[in-house]
Amino acid sequence: MSSGMCVRCGGRIIALQKETVAREKARQLSDQMSYPVIYRMLKGIVVCGVCLDALPLIGHDICQRCGRDRKWQASIGSEGLCRDCVHGEDGQILVANRSLLRYEKGEKDLLGLFKYRGDERLASYYGTLLAVTVQRYYRSMGFTCITTVPLHPQRLRERGFNQVDLLARHLGAAIKIPVRSLLRRTKDTPKLSKQRGRVSRQESMREAFAWGEQSIPSASTVLLIDDIYTTGATLRSCARTIREHLGPSCEIYSLTIYR
Ligand SMILES: [Zn+2]
Ligand SMILES: [Zn+2]
Repeated sequence: MSSGMCVRCGGRIIALQKETVAREKARQLSDQMSYPVIYRMLKGIVVCGVCLDALPLIGHDICQRCGRDRKWQASIGSEGLCRDCVHGEDGQILVANRSLLRYEKGEKDLLGLFKYRGDERLASYYGTLLAVTVQRYYRSMGFTCITTVPLHPQRLRERGFNQVDLLARHLGAAIKIPVRSLLRRTKDTPKLSKQRGRVSRQESMREAFAWGEQSIPSASTVLLIDDIYTTGATLRSCARTIREHLGPSCEIYSLTIYR
């Protein structure tokens, strides 16, 4: 049965072995309140015990704004913010970002597979990881809605789907929060991997998004989803567009799988 195969290694999922790991990981990621929920989510995730054990989880010591793992980023200052967040412009546009995993070498291949194939089992896997991340960091937030970083219509035609929308659908179902398409992409930006450096990324993201046709209350708390936070330029650009439309009483938090 295909549901018994691990999406990461293709091996068979052995329930008993996996349950032990799920319990241990849930303890690592939760407090007393969130333990049962996180444990249930990890138990249901479509990976084997070995792969679950090997996930590059972000530790407890993080930059309070961008969610970067302090252990892997020596430049985090004593105020709880990393160097980029201390010196970055418009830091308040996004209240905070949180992510679950470090973007390590093996992770790139798996994410690439999901991005270009839109595999439904990988969508479920990543969607569950996002749900775990909400439980870990944003449990008490009471989000009004979830929204995603949109693809440009041209890209959407080429690819046939927006992988982040697939994630949002799984996440929304798991945490029972509605998904709304708040934004449209007005400018097709060059592939991030082809851009050099922080400044040019921020430059190319300027005014890349516009408000869609949706109507939500101005005092909304919005959860913005993407697969990865690299410099945060894309997410901040989305957040800026949302704030320009809703005004200063809205709050925008972001959530990504990788940081
Ligand atoms: Zn595996
Ligand atoms: Zn930071």
